Amino acid sequence: MTHRKVIIIGSGPAGYTAALYASRANLNPLVIEGHEPGGQLTTTTDVDNFPGFPDGIMGPELMANMRKQTERFGTEYMTSHVTDIDTDKRPFTLKCENGNELTADAVIIATGASAKYLGIPNEKELIGKGVSACATCDGFFYRNRVVHVVGGGDTAMEEATFLTKFASKVYVVHRRDELRASKPMQQRAFDNEKIEFVWDTGVEEILFDGTGVTGIKVKNLKTGEVTERATDGLFMGIGHKPNTDFVKGKVKLDDHGFIITGEHPDTSVPGIFACGDVQDSYYRQAISAAGSGCQAAIRAERFIEEN
Ligand code: NDP
Repeated sequence: MTHRKVIIIGSGPAGYTAALYASRANLNPLVIEGHEPGGQLTTTTDVDNFPGFPDGIMGPELMANMRKQTERFGTEYMTSHVTDIDTDKRPFTLKCENGNELTADAVIIATGASAKYLGIPNEKELIGKGVSACATCDGFFYRNRVVHVVGGGDTAMEEATFLTKFASKVYVVHRRDELRASKPMQQRAFDNEKIEFVWDTGVEEILFDGTGVTGIKVKNLKTGEVTERATDGLFMGIGHKPNTDFVKGKVKLDDHGFIITGEHPDTSVPGIFACGDVQDSYYRQAISAAGSGCQAAIRAERFIEEN
């Protein structure tokens, strides 16, 4: 069975940064990178908010660069999913989908979160062509355009409010006539003249031409009436699902399934650390994920030294 000082699970900005720090600390890390190496940023186009790139950088290129940088210091990669971790004794044992079993003195979980999508036809194919789940990433491209946001929670309110900086009009399409969002976030959206609510409504279809999204087909869930609405963009604001199924019952999770960490990226199990979106439902930025990846690697290094 292969043994490593540090195993990092996940290969977004958090995992890559943890790998960079761990490999430079001579911890010879192995990254188990999953089937979508690079994570959420590989589905975006221009990244203008990662410092150090005055002209911006394409998401996939940024992730490829991060990976290359880790390889320079000896980080190794394995493509698989971790299905189980034995957290009861050290070294920890990790079981992988490809049948491999590995042990590690410290484990860094950086498996991220996935934005939820509606499950309607073509929504994934149209990502980057009018469909998005990240207003902070893509809002800029909707200057003076009309956009629709789906959802009634804090994410939807935050996305809608942010989008009003650019868009000429923001419609929030919600399946009920009452929001789930916190009162202050609701009020902020209600007070914004650019935001209009479309209540009791579900999005059934996305309309598009050769260049991208042109509209949506929506259904009033009370009357059953189906109508078409013109829009340049459709933003998913229906929440994120942290990728934590494999650690349920092993490390402490919050009510939404995010790993609970404290001031440091320590989990409830000494020697297991978490960084990036898997433990962060609040900032969810590449740069904050990278920052927490650095912290997790430093914590892992000290943990190994002390134990
Ligand atoms: P929530 O689960 O709170 O809300 C999801 C919303 O999407 C709900 O309104 C829900 O409708 C709707 N929805 C879910 N699935 C579908 C679907 N298939 N079709 C249509 N609508 C759907 O998720 P959030 O991401 O908004 O928030 C998660 C957590 O993160 C919360 O604790 C929130 O407070 C926190 N958060 C805090 C922020 C902040 O403080 N700045 C920003 C963002 C999130 P329904 O209401 O009918 O169930």
